[in-house]
Amino acid sequence: MRSFEWSDPPTIEDALAQLRPGAVAKAGGVDLSDRLKERLDAPARLVNLRRIPALDGVRDAGGGLELGPLVTLARLADHPLVVQRFPAVAEAARRAATPNVRNQATVGGNLLQRPRCWYFRQADFPCRRKGGDTCFALEGRNQYHAVFANDLCAIVHPSDLATALVAHGAEVDVRSRSRARRLALEALYVLPDEDVTREHRVAPDELLVGIRLPAPAPGVRGAYVKIGERDSADWPIASAAAVLALDGAICRRATLVLGAAAPVPWRAREAEGALEGRRVDAAAAADAARAALAKARPLSENRYKVAVLEAALRRAILAAAGSAA
Ligand SMILES: Cc1cc2nc3c(=O)[nH]c(=O)nc-3n(C[C@H](O)[C@H](O)[C@H](O)COP(=O)(O)OP(=O)(O)OC[C@H]3O[C@@H](n4cnc5c(N)ncnc54)[C@H](O)[C@@H]3O)c2cc1C
Repeated sequence: MRSFEWSDPPTIEDALAQLRPGAVAKAGGVDLSDRLKERLDAPARLVNLRRIPALDGVRDAGGGLELGPLVTLARLADHPLVVQRFPAVAEAARRAATPNVRNQATVGGNLLQRPRCWYFRQADFPCRRKGGDTCFALEGRNQYHAVFANDLCAIVHPSDLATALVAHGAEVDVRSRSRARRLALEALYVLPDEDVTREHRVAPDELLVGIRLPAPAPGVRGAYVKIGERDSADWPIASAAAVLALDGAICRRATLVLGAAAPVPWRAREAEGALEGRRVDAAAAADAARAALAKARPLSENRYKVAVLEAALRRAILAAAGSAA
């Protein structure tokens, strides 16, 4: 590992001033320390965000919530306002990683962590995402890889939390020294055909400074379902978040998002259309889940993921509807 400078800025402004070329922001450091050990990154300076109180905390915002990016996954999973208003988000945080990791890992770092593709994570493979001209997963080992948007690079987006937050219409605040902008979390993420070397639109001289969850309208219910090889310590093989606006048992509006399916949290728009206006029962959930996966293009080793994603979405829809009862 190359040596680097370390700084502990006390304010957002100080941190932004220190994000000069060669510097990288560090939150919990869980993903970043792996990347340093894997020789994927060799920053000249780490800008430690953990001493900046303005980046921490869960605040009520008119029935919605404002989350500081430094909130740990453990605090998010247990926070009474999160559990009460956004159970899908609490569940996604609770199901991520291990208790140790959840105590250190932050919301911001979870949303901006880099992909887990084994070719990307090994310095010996000069894959497209690292500026090379090959996606080794396309012809190689790809059982955990994408079933959508996988022509150029077959990574899956790794964050459990992003899937649930996108389903709830979360927005993020991003700042540099010269500008502040707010955008939908869904729009933060970048597909490979736009730029195969980056996963999100936070530039190296910017910070994610807040995450906003809009107040759920009456009758809106959400659920998150994760399926993995193990119950803990693992990223999902398949996950799904369902947020339904219900009128009795009838679905008026659905936002359905698949995790570990594509290089970004994947909106299942065909499934949303299939569910809206219908009574939410097992048949409607199965139809919607089938519609969600109808255009999947699995690779040589991951055809099984189509069925697993379908099951995750079906269960998430039924769980969301059930929680309204
Ligand atoms: C054993 C293990 C199991 C795991 N299982 C799961 C799982 O099941 N589900 C899941 O979702 N994740 C899982 N993870 C990933 C883990 O949750 C993330 O690595 C962690 O959340 C990253 O958060 P952090 O605060 O440590 O980020 P860091 O490592 O500090 O940062 C990650 C990236 O985000 C950037 N960054 C962080 N905060 C900001 C900010 N405010 N503004 C701009 N840039 C920022 C950093 O520059 C860096 O590039 C697992 C990790 C391990 C080690």
